[in-house]
Amino acid sequence: MSDGAPEKFASDTQLIRAGRDARYTQGVVNPPVYHASTCTFETLAEFDERLKHPDDGLYYGRRGTPTIWALEDALTGMHADAAGTKLFPSGVAALAGAFLAVCRAGDHVLIADTAYEPTRVLANGVLKRMGVECEFYDPLIGGDISGLIRDDTRAIFMESPGSLTFEVQDVPAIVAAAKKRDVTTIVDNTWATPLLFPSLQHGVDIEVQSLTKFIVGHSDAMMGSVTANKALWPRVKATALRLGQCAGPDDVFLALRGVRTLSMRLHRHGETALKTAAAVQMHSAVADVLCPGLPGNPHHDLWQRDFLGYSSLFSIVLNGGERHHLAAMVDDLRLFSMGFSFGGFESLILPVSPETVRSATQWSAPGPVLRIHCGLEDADDLIADLMAGLDRFQKAAA
Ligand SMILES: *Cc1c(COP(=O)(O)O)cnc(C)c1O
Repeated sequence: MSDGAPEKFASDTQLIRAGRDARYTQGVVNPPVYHASTCTFETLAEFDERLKHPDDGLYYGRRGTPTIWALEDALTGMHADAAGTKLFPSGVAALAGAFLAVCRAGDHVLIADTAYEPTRVLANGVLKRMGVECEFYDPLIGGDISGLIRDDTRAIFMESPGSLTFEVQDVPAIVAAAKKRDVTTIVDNTWATPLLFPSLQHGVDIEVQSLTKFIVGHSDAMMGSVTANKALWPRVKATALRLGQCAGPDDVFLALRGVRTLSMRLHRHGETALKTAAAVQMHSAVADVLCPGLPGNPHHDLWQRDFLGYSSLFSIVLNGGERHHLAAMVDDLRLFSMGFSFGGFESLILPVSPETVRSATQWSAPGPVLRIHCGLEDADDLIADLMAGLDRFQKAAA
């Protein structure tokens, strides 16, 4: 907003100011939505000048517009020390962009066994076909990951807490081991966002987010981002451009709108999730609640050490019963819809099977597993809905 010395504000204040540079807003509060492919040049001299500096202003739609730069700046600004951010049309596209920015044929890559399933599919499908060897590792390995690092190891991929089962990784210990061997670290930070886990401050080189989740926050757009530190930014930027990755202006506008309320929403999501997790833990149909925010969870201490708050998501393991018994519960829930994704204002529930997406570790449960996203409804209403559903499950499974 000013070209003077960088001002330092609390993160909530920064989220309100982010991306609202006067060059982008032209004097209104929100950056206008630029629908653009062609950008035109007045003179040959101007054209020649732009050819020399394609990133210094409007050039061609794919390379960005003020709408896009505003969101990229906002995401970069969520880290104290990020060099830049590129947008992608989905979180999975952003994951692919991050790997392709870093890996070449013959590389070895270490991937947390609890990574989001499409990350595993991307690794075992595309990366493998390109000659990149992907090895999955126990997410709880911590500093012992140094034993898995080889001379040809290019990158270590983390996701914390892990998908579906929410194991918290010792990211600082893994980063320290990686730095000793000059290995690039990538984290999928979708669960926490930089607000709850400032990943680059923890030494991570590249952060991937599915903006579809908390940044957009309203279940109405898909987008992903890759944010990098100074060393990796040129590779990330060049790769995104060469792959032709970009996001549509109306979706970017929605994501930017989401940024303004992100902190408030996350705070409320977290409060409700912890209250709900603690309540359902008391139900006799529940064998376990996979929620590192609850005291007594095996990952609670690490979560408390590194995270600045809880997010919306946890899982419950049911005490016996079969998958088909879930129908009695989920078919009649009034506030939890069944569907993929999370991060929107509305609560979601999803039957999941973690044992089918693990290869380096074993996972088993005494009954079906449900992943729960607590939306912005009243917590007591959500708890009552789940408790009644658990009663129905118990009766069906008896
Ligand atoms: C949803 C999700 C993604 C993929 O994002 P899309 O925008 O749906 O492609 C990646 N990582 C995690 C952890 C996710 O939850």
